[in-house]
Amino acid sequence: MAENRLRIHHTKPDQFRRIRGFDCNRLALPQISSVPGPPPRAGTEEIVMFQPPRCPHRLCPQHLEPSPGFCHAHGHYQPLCRPHPVPRFRCTSCKRTFSRQTFRMDYRDHRPDLNARLFQSLASGVGLRQTARNLRLSLRCTELKFRKIARHLRRLNLNLRANLPSGSQLQLDELETYEGRRNGRPLSVPVVIESKSRFVIWAESATIRPRGKMTPARRLAIREDEARFGRRRDRSRSSVRRSLARAAKLTGSLEWVQLDTDQKSSYVGLARAAFGWSRLVHRRTSGKLPRTTANPLFPINHTEAMARDLLGRLRRESWLVSKKRRYLDLGLHLFMAYRNLVRRRFNFDQESPAELLGFLPRRITEVEALSWRQELGRKSIHPLARETESIESLGMRAGAAA
Ligand SMILES: [Zn+2]
Repeated sequence: MAENRLRIHHTKPDQFRRIRGFDCNRLALPQISSVPGPPPRAGTEEIVMFQPPRCPHRLCPQHLEPSPGFCHAHGHYQPLCRPHPVPRFRCTSCKRTFSRQTFRMDYRDHRPDLNARLFQSLASGVGLRQTARNLRLSLRCTELKFRKIARHLRRLNLNLRANLPSGSQLQLDELETYEGRRNGRPLSVPVVIESKSRFVIWAESATIRPRGKMTPARRLAIREDEARFGRRRDRSRSSVRRSLARAAKLTGSLEWVQLDTDQKSSYVGLARAAFGWSRLVHRRTSGKLPRTTANPLFPINHTEAMARDLLGRLRRESWLVSKKRRYLDLGLHLFMAYRNLVRRRFNFDQESPAELLGFLPRRITEVEALSWRQELGRKSIHPLARETESIESLGMRAGAAA
């Protein structure tokens, strides 16, 4: 739809050389001094032209294993939302065309300039409606942008992680919230972190049974809900199992896995199943201890408090509470990406949690987090790529340099 409104100028393939030098094809270089690779020569302006890393069409043989020179330049178009034209390319194998935008996270967006501000706003405890008012967007547009950005950040957060370094310590806890109706639809949110770096490994929501004091009004509300949605099931155990499995994937290189939890009895069996009997060191702390900095579970308690602060929908007694559980999950992914990649670990630190664990060479900005699409796993373009290097290749280069 957006494409129809754009003026498309086609050029012949033999004009490739001229297009390569065209201003629109330059990549804006971020501050990448800490990215491994040869530094730019002093006194020379480095100009990097965008070269598509692969054909974006999934059924094309050039998609997963592109050969050199698989595409040629195919003109450019002038989008309404950008000051500069965008180069187009044509695949020599499938003959289909694409542009640089096809590889960008803001592909087909109408207001790409507001994405980073929207991410920042939603990761700062502001709700969707207030964000929409601040950015002069409609509520519907803000909701759709939130979903697209959160799904992208989920992939980015998963693609950038690797094995945890030795000495890492894990902590697990569950926080409680609800969807839509407080007295009848409670949720449990297991959160797993690496406690030294405060890297949030996983968080997701699961339905649980209503519990606690029952008043006649509450019983009526629960009966209404059961008539409407069926009996509410307790899925807390399976979501803790999934969260621990996410953590176990990162512990391949660890000799010992140290896990701190409270004394909930089900954690013992789930932790042994996830990490194995032989290398698990499971320390259990009473949940009744004061929640001070001396408490061994302080890092996870602090992370949960930060999640309740930065994610408005987790706050108690708030209008911002999620009406549907799946959007709470998207909000959690947005929080995890902000916490792990963008925010400093502590205010006096320079590094983000992902940087401290060696997953990234430095903290990234909201704009960088929302740069290249991340649908190809670790073959996706790295958010700090100088050209269009994949996360896999930059990770390998970083490993070789270390
Ligand atoms: Zn192709």
